[in-house]
Amino acid sequence: MKKYLFAAALLCTAVWADTIYPIDRAVMLEGGKFDFKVEFDKQLKSGDFKVLINGKDYREVFKKQGVFIANEDNLSASALVIKDVSLPKEGSYKVQVSANGKRSEVSWQVFATPQKAKAKNVILFIGDGLSVAHRTGARILSKGITEGKANGYLNTDDFPYMAFIGTSGTDSIATDSANSMSAYMTGHKSGVNAMGVYVSRAKDSLNHPKQETLGELIRRTSDKSLGIVSDAELEDATPAAVVSHTRRRADKSEIVGMFYDVKPDVILGGGSAYFLPKSVPGSKRKDEVNYIEKFKQDGYALATDAATLKEVKTKADKLLGLFHLGNMDGVLDRKFLKNDVTKKFPNQPDLTEMTAAALEVLSKNKNGFFLVVEGALIDKASHPLDWDRALYDTIMLDKSVGIAKEFAKNNPDTLIIATGDHTHGVSIIGTIDDNKAGDKMREKVGVYADAGFPNYEDKDKDGYPDTPAVSKRLAVFANNFPDYYETYRPKLDAQFVPAVQNEKGEYVANAAYKDIAGAVFREGNIPSNTDTGVHSVDDMVVQAYGPGGEAVRGYMDNTQLFRVIADALALGKDKR
Ligand SMILES: [Zn+2]
Repeated sequence: MKKYLFAAALLCTAVWADTIYPIDRAVMLEGGKFDFKVEFDKQLKSGDFKVLINGKDYREVFKKQGVFIANEDNLSASALVIKDVSLPKEGSYKVQVSANGKRSEVSWQVFATPQKAKAKNVILFIGDGLSVAHRTGARILSKGITEGKANGYLNTDDFPYMAFIGTSGTDSIATDSANSMSAYMTGHKSGVNAMGVYVSRAKDSLNHPKQETLGELIRRTSDKSLGIVSDAELEDATPAAVVSHTRRRADKSEIVGMFYDVKPDVILGGGSAYFLPKSVPGSKRKDEVNYIEKFKQDGYALATDAATLKEVKTKADKLLGLFHLGNMDGVLDRKFLKNDVTKKFPNQPDLTEMTAAALEVLSKNKNGFFLVVEGALIDKASHPLDWDRALYDTIMLDKSVGIAKEFAKNNPDTLIIATGDHTHGVSIIGTIDDNKAGDKMREKVGVYADAGFPNYEDKDKDGYPDTPAVSKRLAVFANNFPDYYETYRPKLDAQFVPAVQNEKGEYVANAAYKDIAGAVFREGNIPSNTDTGVHSVDDMVVQAYGPGGEAVRGYMDNTQLFRVIADALALGKDKR
């Protein structure tokens, strides 16, 4: 019987075209803010519809009048919008919209967090694109492996709580970093390129139905501090989703404005190009607003490299660190290869140094904090199939987790969550041994018993191999790629650029690698308008350590991580 009811419910949503936001099966926090929107499928008069929430008129429930838009964006269809509403009581909600003799319906669940917080602090680590192969590779490179047993463990390896996470969005099974991080930060699903909003039919990217982010919630309902650290541009999807609302993740100038509205206590990363006014060389803004000046006037200490970061962090209560115009450079380039790519910004801090500085500043608040740390370069290197760079940066992320773990030992009321936002289609299959017989590089790939073990060395015991260019190295391959030349070797000059655009706008194999000894052409298996490898739909692993972490188990939807954090900190109604 139940089965048939479920099938009938599915049929209903398929037949009727009015769209309601938040969408069906949305799970929301008691008192959390969101925009309510109904998109009617044709033009109506203002009194031509009825919206009931659990049988009551919507105005009575939201205690607000809606704005009726007779012809939304000239689409010949009407809409009802009520911004910034909330539901004050936990429970089940049924929303029914009747118009034109039709009825549309969605159900929501509203949850309350406990009266008493389990944790004072939450630190969320996001390895952008972090897949199982990245973890395995980082462990082998960093710790070594003998007779099949790891010679040491990563910092996340003994986290007691663990789950698989599904990352799909409202529009597609394949996600990007915007809607995946948005799910963590708002508890709502969204679509590719969107964060902090549902993807509605509105034409203005900044006018889609919003949901409050964890960053905003912390600010509005608690006395806790807020910190955001990333080695990407701060306007990039993952760090931006902590505070921002846009359909279009490329709205980077506007995103800086949203950072300024929320004013996280600690903001460290790259992307100064969007903080600087148009007239300053390197700026990517289209106006003369100087956000660095604005933050400074609001009492932020400014750090521009590793040295100033070290200098200002002790005294600062509010800290802005901008270390690169764009994405920061990876640890393999900066510390080991010391190649030209890092000459422009020679003294960038490590993610570990940024994590330590953030913890030092945020922990000055006796009420606790929420800190997000993103290791973004794992993804930035995985797209162009540059596995050495991706693995070195995975080690960097894990070392940052180690710093948080040390902090949690002295502050046991701290919950640490470590995960990614989506995976890549990457796998380790064995080794590549230059000394193996054969002319062709593929004959030097060792599989099964032939693989043996790689010969990376870490003589100075800093946790990174001294060089990735050893004679017997990991064989790491992607399952999806554009046309490219496979060289079977680390790229020591700069990050790999597998494909370049031709006159027709298609991505073709980059001829710069054609003449490297042993390089072979691989014909791409993804559309030719794709310049690099893409995200995979595979589940991701999330791990947790500390109070509140026990909620991480089994299979979870990415939106559920929002609740894990909200519950741990008892967010929601102002409980100050
Ligand atoms: Zn990506």
